Amino acid sequence: MCDRPLIDPAKCDGCGVCAGVCPQSALVVTGGKVNFTMTAGCSWCGECEAVCPSGAIGCPYEIVFG
Ligand code: SF4
Ligand code: SF4
Repeated sequence: MCDRPLIDPAKCDGCGVCAGVCPQSALVVTGGKVNFTMTAGCSWCGECEAVCPSGAIGCPYEIVFG
């Protein structure tokens, strides 16, 4: 189980748009790449995935067959 969205650092260009929309302030741009802050919790709102112009953020959820 994943507790936060996945960020693909190869796609992220550090524009900071996601950090600007995150209602939990869970994202911060450091060194030209976005990272999660350790002090804020992600609420899985999906806003960061929706606004990222580079498609670098994904909010996956587990699909269980059977
Ligand atoms: S899903 Fe929402 S709360 Fe979580 S990091 Fe993205 S914008 Fe922030
Ligand atoms: S919006 Fe996308 S490209 Fe911009 S900092 Fe966030 S993850 Fe990186």
